[in-house]
Amino acid sequence: MQHKDKELNYLTRSLLHHPSPYIIYELDGSIAWANMAAKYIFNLSNLKQVSIKNIDDEIKNNFGDLESIALYYDTPIEITLRKINFFMRTRVHMIPVSDDSGIMLIELLCSSRDGLNALKETIECIENNRIELAYQKQYDLNTKKITGVEALLRMQDGKGGYFANDKVIPLIEGEKLFSLIVLESLNQVKEFFKQKDAKGLSDVTLYLNVSAHTIMHEEFCKIFSKFVDENNIKPNEFGLEVTETAELEDMHKAGESLARLKEKGIKIALDDFGAGYASLKYIKDLPIDVVKLDRHFTSNISDSSTARLIQFVADVCLELDLEMIGEGIETEVEKEKMINLGCKVGQGFLMHKPSFLDDIEIEN
Ligand code: C2E
Ligand code: MG
Ligand code: MG
Repeated sequence: MQHKDKELNYLTRSLLHHPSPYIIYELDGSIAWANMAAKYIFNLSNLKQVSIKNIDDEIKNNFGDLESIALYYDTPIEITLRKINFFMRTRVHMIPVSDDSGIMLIELLCSSRDGLNALKETIECIENNRIELAYQKQYDLNTKKITGVEALLRMQDGKGGYFANDKVIPLIEGEKLFSLIVLESLNQVKEFFKQKDAKGLSDVTLYLNVSAHTIMHEEFCKIFSKFVDENNIKPNEFGLEVTETAELEDMHKAGESLARLKEKGIKIALDDFGAGYASLKYIKDLPIDVVKLDRHFTSNISDSSTARLIQFVADVCLELDLEMIGEGIETEVEKEKMINLGCKVGQGFLMHKPSFLDDIEIEN
């Protein structure tokens, strides 16, 4: 490292074991130093494996002076790691170390130790093409006809298993990095569309899970529209299951994004309804087609107040002309009760366990 200043030495020593990833950036784009956490998430054996694409001139030229408090900027930065490029949320600290120069200390924003691991695992999966999709069928519970198929992310852990979606996805789906996963998923969904007729799934809707972060992003609305156009996907053949609706702060904007997707013939399902933040307000205010009742309700269906709630949701869906899908049906008893409460479509291990495209067999 070129900077020999005592201050800098002190700074790097104190940040070396800091739980947040830090890097020191040279104005030529190279990285002069990285702490342990940064080396960990990028799996770095050599600082040359990582560089920064561009940094705003406004930031570059604004170090302040020796008497001033160091400045900082919260800004996403494009990182090149070996062969992949992605954006990360960062805080750039501009620290003046002499009258005519300073250092750019870049803190990669990361919520927790678990968040750090999730970032590392995601980067590893993207770099090593360890992203797959499993598919789970949805059925008309009365006729047993297949009505839809949900694509579920499977990220290989490199040891023969898969990371638990519920643990990893919530930690990373707000990250720009996650867009690489969405793009790869879309790429793989193309294969599903190529094979769906041969698998006896001609009339079904293929649903992809997306978080509110994703649909609020204008770029993604364009990507999904383009996907539908380029692959000649017919109306209602493709749908999005929207999760993490807590992030839909701006309901008006969310409604507009969803309306645009609907115009392209993309079906919109509200996922995990009744759990967390997916509330009645969304049914009222968002242009959705399908309500997916969280599997928590199904597993407690023997409880009489839960059963009444399921019936209430079924009535609301009927009234508003929305489809309802019951999630997590594991037993015949649950299935029968769902039918009796007015839920006509369901999904769960009883009917079909998620499986890879190659393993999906034709059903009669
Ligand atoms: P989800 O969208 O509600 O997906 C249903 C989850 O319940 C899946 O878990 C599925 O394997 C599981 N499941 C299905 N039937 C049953 C059942 O009868 N019993 C039980 N106990 N579980 C059942 P998975 O694949 O681990 O996914 C968990 C969550 O991760 C998903 O919940 C979804 O929120 C998220 N997720 C999955 N794939 C993606 C993706 O590609 N993008 C995003 N943003 N989120 C995803
Ligand atoms: Mg889902
Ligand atoms: Mg769900």
